[in-house]
Amino acid sequence: MINLVLFGPPGAGKGTQSEKLIKKYGFVHISTGDLFRWHTKNDTALGKRVKEIMNSGALVPDEITIAMLKEELDKNPQAKGFLFDGFPRTVPQAEALDKFMKDNGSAIHFVVALDVTEEELRVRIAKRKQTENRADDEEEKLNKRVNEYFTKTIHVLPYYEKQKRLNTVHGIGEIEEIFGNICKVIDK
Ligand code: ADP
Repeated sequence: MINLVLFGPPGAGKGTQSEKLIKKYGFVHISTGDLFRWHTKNDTALGKRVKEIMNSGALVPDEITIAMLKEELDKNPQAKGFLFDGFPRTVPQAEALDKFMKDNGSAIHFVVALDVTEEELRVRIAKRKQTENRADDEEEKLNKRVNEYFTKTIHVLPYYEKQKRLNTVHGIGEIEEIFGNICKVIDK
């Protein structure tokens, strides 16, 4: 069983690369962003709690996010491996994830961080806004999301680096080439 965290700022290409990785390796994909969007779309109790927060571009509190993630893990006891996309986004989330994995006799084996400049991110998200029409892709909210990344989420990198689990992959260029570089990390 291989468990992978795909890490990177909003617009880094995590969604695109996740799809390809799932096809190749058969991971169970856990995207906290997708899960939150599902809840808000279906107007669940959780969805009602997080809607405003998400729309503002802020991070959902750890307590809520970690509980949702745990539930998702428990739904997939037979998973061959997990691909975490958009989680962890804070150090307490990273610690919780390690604990959950350990409790199941497993671990996070790889962390792949997609490295993309802030400038490139803004260009990409502006494009995505036109095609996907995501409420949180508007400029003000986008600024908030990029800010949340550079003030809170970025601290997750040294957490994994200290444990020698961090692999940085250059995230600008051809999708296939980036994918190839991620596969090299997994297959090495
Ligand atoms: P992006 O495209 O910016 O990477 P996602 O689709 O992963 O964003 O997430 C969208 C929103 O969902 C975030 O802006 C945040 O409000 C919420 N969210 C997703 N994952 C997390 C998390 N791990 N911790 C806190 N909030 C989260």
